[in-house]
Order: sequence, then structure tokens, then C-alpha cells
Amino acid sequence: MKEMTEPVMIEEIIEVKKTYWTCGNPLHRHRTQFVALFCIRESTRKKIEQQPVTDKRLLSLLEMHAAGKTLAEMAAVDGGGRSRVHQLLKEAKRRKVEGLL
Ligand SMILES: [Zn+2]
Repeated sequence: MKEMTEPVMIEEIIEVKKTYWTCGNPLHRHRTQFVALFCIRESTRKKIEQQPVTDKRLLSLLEMHAAGKTLAEMAAVDGGGRSRVHQLLKEAKRRKVEGLL
């Protein structure tokens, strides 16, 4: 061992391997596949929910409601969540009553 009188600072570059799951959003780094999948499903659902409320969409919900479909079944067809479908259904009924549909 070389005798030293002064300490010397050593700098090392260390390579770190990080793994994460991506959902396509460059700002997201999900730790698990499950969370990334959930994120993808959520953003898809939000996009669908934000789609314009068209007469066609509302009439389709009214038809399904009249046919005895549950909110979950209507949500599966519509693409939005159950609460959104419930909200849209109320809107559809209102428009129907007011003669707007
Ligand atoms: Zn994400």
C-alpha cells in the first residue's frame, strides 16, 4: 500500500439498471405491469367519457335502458364508466321529456 499523507477523492461512474412499465405517457414510469395496465385503461375510459355527448349516443343509452340493460352493461357498450353512463342517461331522459331528442 502506497503511503499517503493527504486523502484523495475518487469519482466512479456506476451503472444502474432500472426497470419500469410504461403506459405510453412519457411522464409516467410505473413500477408494476398491473399499474401500467390500469393507467392505460383509465386514460382510454377518460378519452371515451370526454367524447362529445351526441344525440346518437344518448338515444343508444335510452334504447338499452328501455331494453332492461343494467348500468354496467350499458357502460360496457358506451365505453364510459357506470357513473358517467348514469349521468348521461339522466341527461337523455331530460332531453327526451323536453322534446330535444
Ligand atoms: Zn401511466
